Amino acid sequence: RTIASPLLSNQEELLERALRPKSLQDYVGQAKACEQLHIFIEAAKLRGEALDHTLIFGPPGLGKTTLAHIIAKEMGVNLRQTSGPILERAGDLAALLTNLEPHDVLFIDEIHRLSPIVEEILYPALEDYQLDIMIGEGPAARSVKIDLPPFTLIGATTRAGMLTNPLRDRFGIVARLEFYNAEDLTHIVSRSAQLLQLDLLPDAAFEIAKRSRGTPRIANRLLRRVRDFADVKNAGQITREVADAALHMLDVDHEGLDMLDRKLLQTILSKFTGGPVGLENVAAAIGESTDTIEDVIEPYLIQQGFLQRTPRGRMVTERTYLHFNLSV
Ligand code: ADP
Repeated sequence: RTIASPLLSNQEELLERALRPKSLQDYVGQAKACEQLHIFIEAAKLRGEALDHTLIFGPPGLGKTTLAHIIAKEMGVNLRQTSGPILERAGDLAALLTNLEPHDVLFIDEIHRLSPIVEEILYPALEDYQLDIMIGEGPAARSVKIDLPPFTLIGATTRAGMLTNPLRDRFGIVARLEFYNAEDLTHIVSRSAQLLQLDLLPDAAFEIAKRSRGTPRIANRLLRRVRDFADVKNAGQITREVADAALHMLDVDHEGLDMLDRKLLQTILSKFTGGPVGLENVAAAIGESTDTIEDVIEPYLIQQGFLQRTPRGRMVTERTYLHFNLSV
């Protein structure tokens, strides 16, 4: 996957970090989540308390990490970042927690992938700001309790359904991020162009925005690729025609679907007569993992009405037939 891959080269990651908004004010869209967070942050500050533990969920690239950093900044505290799969041993988590200053934010990305042992340690830490850990082994092993400063856990996950119930119950605040509309994405693309000092015309910004799968990370990535194209073919100026030609070259179609999106839909159409077909079968047919399908590919297709999740499996819709010029 060249366009929407969650993996970035170093250079791209640096650029992306530079484009990250630094305050709630600069954070485009997500009005509901932002309004709620603004109130909870101000209330916590008024009372001189740590912000309640916060869960942010939504598909990759919608701004979960960005929002976590903004929350820490607005609270005036440090943020320590880690991720579920990295935290393998109880000691890793203990080391992070004991290094926190009062009210600091611990950000755990992909929190649904925490190991059960680490999750067990996390519960008392979240509830009572206490660590209960075993030191030593065998007969000499003993358990010690360590008091922690009040802190805020911010967990990010692509699928809230993957969290265990006890973990989910410990979050006082839940922010759900939605796909962005074309207007918000136009704003994001224009802002990025300004930061990168690009010559981007307004209708080109809109063209990129509406073909970005509702996702700021993809919008910023497409903008950079369109810039390459414009540098070589049009002395750097990004017009709507240049954007369109570049997106065409990148295999992003007029509705913003990329190669993987089309592969998934066309496979269901051609090999499974439009569905319903089980997730495992589709995954095997297109050679992707079920996780990739569930996290990355299908949320946008479902939101846009190209795909339906039914009790009997995945089904394409009338819109899909129309998209590929087929009769239903
Ligand atoms: P996630 O953690 O959900 O995968 P990120 O927070 O890493 O997503 O966001 C990806 C990129 O998209 C960021 O680097 C940022 O430049 C951009 N971005 C995300 N949300 C917004 C937003 N609300 N406004 C402007 N840019 C955003």
